[in-house]
Amino acid sequence: MSLPNFPVEGGCQCGAVRYRLTHNPLSVYNCHCKDCQRFSGAAWSMSMLVRDEDFAVLQGRTEQYAKRADSGRVVEMHFCAHCHGWLFNRPPFPGIVVVRAGTLDDLDWAAPVGNIWTGSKAAWVEIDPELVNFSGQANDRQPLYDAWTHSTRKDN
Ligand SMILES: [Zn+2]
Ligand SMILES: [Zn+2]
Repeated sequence: MSLPNFPVEGGCQCGAVRYRLTHNPLSVYNCHCKDCQRFSGAAWSMSMLVRDEDFAVLQGRTEQYAKRADSGRVVEMHFCAHCHGWLFNRPPFPGIVVVRAGTLDDLDWAAPVGNIWTGSKAAWVEIDPELVNFSGQANDRQPLYDAWTHSTRKDN
């Protein structure tokens, strides 16, 4: 997968909220957890991990929802205040924003390199065994970072 020329942009469905990504993300992968299924209305959601300093909301206002995970950790979820599209999360660890990759204007370059929470995936979803897969939370995200670095280096 070849990388685009950064910065790239994305936004919500109504166009009120726009964001910019100034550098290559750390990784892109699919999450099959039940929360992502409920929030996205789909079988999984695409997570794009970016460094805080590489991410900026350019315009629009987001509404926040504090989601408490089973672990007790609170994830700050951001939705467009107007159309309520799900845009990004701020996880309980600093320095990282988890952007919903489907909100990128162009996501041709953002092919997921792995899957997390495959233990709760829909039975009919097939997981590519060549990818970096976790049955639950990826407590060590380094393999997902490494796979992204590797996949984006190939064509460059
Ligand atoms: Zn909107
Ligand atoms: Zn999830």
